[in-house]
Amino acid sequence: MKTYSTIEIKSVLDPPIKLNFIEYINCPSCDIEIDVKNNIVNNNSFITCENCEHIMRYRVVKIQ
Ligand SMILES: [Zn+2]
Repeated sequence: MKTYSTIEIKSVLDPPIKLNFIEYINCPSCDIEIDVKNNIVNNNSFITCENCEHIMRYRVVKIQ
């Protein structure tokens, strides 16, 4: 069974955003470290944990 969560990315820029300020995200389901450095993300992007298949969807929040 697939599970989902959301990763909130705060940025002053409009998406798409290059993740050059984050190296790893810990999977909320199995806690494995997922390498996300330099991934390009927008509000439709997601990553899938290779270990447990948990799906993490990005949500880009613009800050001033
Ligand atoms: Zn996982």
